[in-house]
Amino acid sequence: MKDRKTSTKARPPDADDAPAREARLQGLVHELQVHQLELELQNEALRNAHTELLLAAAVFAHSYDGIMVCDRDELIVDVNPAFTRITGYAREEAIGRKPSLLASGLTADGVFEAMRQSLDEHRCWRGEIVNRRKGGALYPQAMSIAAVADAAGRVSNYVAVFSDISKLKFHEAELLRIANYDTLTGLPNRRLFSDRLQLALARSRRSGNPLAICYLDLDGFKDVNDRHGHAAGDQLLMTIARNLSAALRAEDTVARLGGDEFALLIDVEQDSHCEAAMERVLAATRLPVAINGQNHSVSGSLGLTIYPADDADAETLLRHADQAMYLAKEAGKNGFHRFDLARDQGVKAVNRQRQRLEQAMQGGELLLHYQPKVDLSTGRVMGAEALVRWQHPEHGLLLPGAFLGILQNTSLEVVLGEWVIDHVLTQIGTWRAAGLRLGASANISPYHLLQPDFAERLAALLQCHPDIDAALLELEILESAALSDATQAAGTLAKCRALGVKLSLDDFGTGYSSLALLRQLPLDVLKVDQTFVSGMLEDPSDQALVEGVIHLAQAFGCDVIAEGVETPEHGAVLLAKGCSVCQGYGIARPMPAELLPAWSREWSNSARWTRPH
Ligand code: C2E
Ligand code: MG
Ligand code: MG
Repeated sequence: MKDRKTSTKARPPDADDAPAREARLQGLVHELQVHQLELELQNEALRNAHTELLLAAAVFAHSYDGIMVCDRDELIVDVNPAFTRITGYAREEAIGRKPSLLASGLTADGVFEAMRQSLDEHRCWRGEIVNRRKGGALYPQAMSIAAVADAAGRVSNYVAVFSDISKLKFHEAELLRIANYDTLTGLPNRRLFSDRLQLALARSRRSGNPLAICYLDLDGFKDVNDRHGHAAGDQLLMTIARNLSAALRAEDTVARLGGDEFALLIDVEQDSHCEAAMERVLAATRLPVAINGQNHSVSGSLGLTIYPADDADAETLLRHADQAMYLAKEAGKNGFHRFDLARDQGVKAVNRQRQRLEQAMQGGELLLHYQPKVDLSTGRVMGAEALVRWQHPEHGLLLPGAFLGILQNTSLEVVLGEWVIDHVLTQIGTWRAAGLRLGASANISPYHLLQPDFAERLAALLQCHPDIDAALLELEILESAALSDATQAAGTLAKCRALGVKLSLDDFGTGYSSLALLRQLPLDVLKVDQTFVSGMLEDPSDQALVEGVIHLAQAFGCDVIAEGVETPEHGAVLLAKGCSVCQGYGIARPMPAELLPAWSREWSNSARWTRPH
């Protein structure tokens, strides 16, 4: 080993180093290759970084949004061309300045505090501010700011990207205007009025001042429109809108609800000031308006309700004012009417009762009792009067006096009347089937009789009972009903008579029929009112009246019947005076239909009343 070592050392250097050199060389080549590869990689990274930088620069330069870069001290270090386009400041003018360069002083309170807080906590902020351009013009801008941190995590820069949103805001405002204002007059519309009403109610609750909610409807506006055209009508509305606004204070509201209807909110401070405010509004409405060189003037009907005396919600308050306006119209227009809570509650109660009664009709709670009419001279039962009853589940059997008034002059009266006629016709058939040929009368209310199609509907009802002789049906018409429109009543009654139905004038003597009217009406029977009959024994004038009616009936060729015959004495006097057909408690009380055949048999067999024959 030693030798070999020695011998190796002894070898000539060239020959000995060749392989080592070869190896070193190869090593160097390898290193070079690695290095080259590294260089290539670095080059590519550099190229990529370069491309990225170019791209970022292009974004910066070509962005449509303004970009502003600040350093950590919030001094502008760079801005892009869009910044200059939007703000009017050149790059050189902006650099080194603070962003407050653009401040307008009009940005909403608290926005900058919120911006600072968000940048500190979340390193970003987004929102809207109002800025001022170099030329002084204001503009709204939407902006987002990002805080950029360095390798150590400290904020090194702020990058703000913003856009001018003037157009957007303009459209937004336009939409808001269209949604909230009336295009013709520029006044708030119904929607904005509702908002203002809510606010005014809250204000009134705080201040304790009463608030008048008013509904104004112009009188005679349609006439102006019709006679002078729509352009003139529009002109009138615009001027009245201005006059109304001028008559009120800035904090009050005048709104146009549509057509010629306006709504007003007036802070009246004291209830007693209300009247003066209403007079001011009406006077402003009446101011003459020049249209095409001519002065026109319309008046207004004003309804109002006062909060909190009327402690309702916004919608109801306006409805109350509207209702009051209708009463102002009814009272002759050009005036105001204050909503009357007590009256309204009364009306509501009647409506509820009406609904309940309608329910009763549909639910079969109404029924008819029949009171016989007899001829005292022969003992014959001549017929029976149908009298309506309400079998109330809680209040028991109710007489018509307790509920018919609720129906007065409503369509329900017609429904009831037709129901009665139909049942009476059915009842006549039922009695006939039980061996009793008996006619019956139905009471007809004035409102029902004066329906234009009364006779036609009666004909239809008769057709539903083809086996019933129409002559067995009698209609009892109140004297007052015949009076209110005599010509129409006479026409209707003539048609009814043509159908074969009998007609009587009920409660005769209580209305004010003239003899001329009586002659005009095609009547079969006059019914002496029970008040004269009951008073006749004591009061000679009542007796004279009864006598008069009897003679009148004879003169007109009508039969006569006395109602309210309570005692045999009444019957005897009536008989002596020539009125033999009677009805009254003394003969029989109204009774359920099924009891009538037995009663009738019993009556005919007994001779309870004095008979002259
Ligand atoms: P009316 O048509 O004059 O009917 C006579 C009323 O006098 C009935 O009262 C009857 O019960 C009552 N009466 C009968 N005999 C006597 C008597 O001897 N003494 C006294 N004090 N009263 C007597 P009722 O049933 O309470 O009806 C009252 C009114 O209600 C009727 O007066 C009629 O105008 C109306 N009415 C009744 N039923 C109907 C109906 O179905 N339709 C319409 N529209 N009105 C009806
Ligand atoms: Mg009657
Ligand atoms: Mg009567």
